[in-house]
Amino acid sequence: MKKKTRHNLAFASKAVYYDPDPKTKSISAPLYLSNNFQYDEEIYQNIVKGARITENIYGRCGNPNETLLQEQVALLENADGCLALGSGMAAVATTCFALLRPGDHIVSDWTTYSSTHEMFDHRLTDFGITTTFVDCNDITAVKASITDKTKIIYFETIANPNMRVTEIPPLVQLARDNNVLVICDNTFASPYVMRPLDWGVDIVVESATKFMGGHNDVLGGIIAIKQTNLPDDFLHELRWSTHVKLGGVLSPFNAWMLLRGLQTLPVRLERQCETAMKLAKHLENHPAVNKVHYPGLTSHPNHEIAKTQMPNYGAMLTFEVADGQSAIKVCGNLELCAFAASLGSVRTITQIPATMAFLDIPKVEREKMNIQDGMVRVSVGLEDPNDIIYDIDQALSQIDTHKQS
Ligand code: PLP
Repeated sequence: MKKKTRHNLAFASKAVYYDPDPKTKSISAPLYLSNNFQYDEEIYQNIVKGARITENIYGRCGNPNETLLQEQVALLENADGCLALGSGMAAVATTCFALLRPGDHIVSDWTTYSSTHEMFDHRLTDFGITTTFVDCNDITAVKASITDKTKIIYFETIANPNMRVTEIPPLVQLARDNNVLVICDNTFASPYVMRPLDWGVDIVVESATKFMGGHNDVLGGIIAIKQTNLPDDFLHELRWSTHVKLGGVLSPFNAWMLLRGLQTLPVRLERQCETAMKLAKHLENHPAVNKVHYPGLTSHPNHEIAKTQMPNYGAMLTFEVADGQSAIKVCGNLELCAFAASLGSVRTITQIPATMAFLDIPKVEREKMNIQDGMVRVSVGLEDPNDIIYDIDQALSQIDTHKQS
């Protein structure tokens, strides 16, 4: 299919279609497990002259399955280019190592995935890179935090785990005024729910392990870029000067699995978002639930922002019960829904953020992130909505049903 035609397809068609393999005409991509590729004189000359991206050389430098995945994700994120990596954290770390130097400064939203927060708060400080944490919806605070050393403003489209949604346009304007890049982690939304590059974000990082893969069976990460405010050779340098040196590569099989996962992303997410809305409304009226955090609810503090930026509202929600013990009881008594670490799959998965993903973050910092001990995070799956509600209700019925005042 012509490139232009593919770009004009609707999201669902973009997700399903890729060109057949030119040699065999197979419509499902062949899997290239080889970690080494043979040179001939012409290939050798091409590589010596600089064609390192178009020629296959060695597994860590790229692979045909990885290349195809990158093309598909770039299409779905409306990106000018994309790099696929071994995990979401490889994407975050590689982006930081590519952009930052000793003395540089990051302004980050308070609420990000725990490993990202810890990398900013601890690991990067070892290299002389500092971070100021703010509420990215408080544009005055963001502005006050920017210094002449600031290189990046960083936030999550839907923040893990309190589902806050950051208003992007004011942040992008502020970044442009100060010659700073905007980076957004799109994991909780996925490109079906939100395409941050269309809103002026410069770089999207994402854990493909989650909604993109969708089946709990693969790890992967994505960096997708909009070229406008980046140097012309940014993607090339990102790959050759940073990624290939750090080595956080995606395996060919995982690239193949992610390509397959992407084909059903729109249908999965359409149904999962619908069920999430039903579940959120149900839990909002449940006597044992103190609060529901879901951007689709009018009670959510960022509902109006979400309505404009991502009207599907996503498939992630968090509800609060009285305390940590009650949260453990609820998750432990679930029968259909899983009690597990990850998210974004066909299965409904619950976790207790305070004592699971954010266990290493001190309580005082968790509170600044608005992470309460009694929070239960739900990644809504593809089970029948009534069965999910029935299962969560029966688990909730096993705790004290008096709401906290
Ligand atoms: N970003 C967010 C928002 C996440 O929730 C996670 C993992 O849970 C990551 C990044 C890291 O992804 P991975 O586990 O693929 O390294």
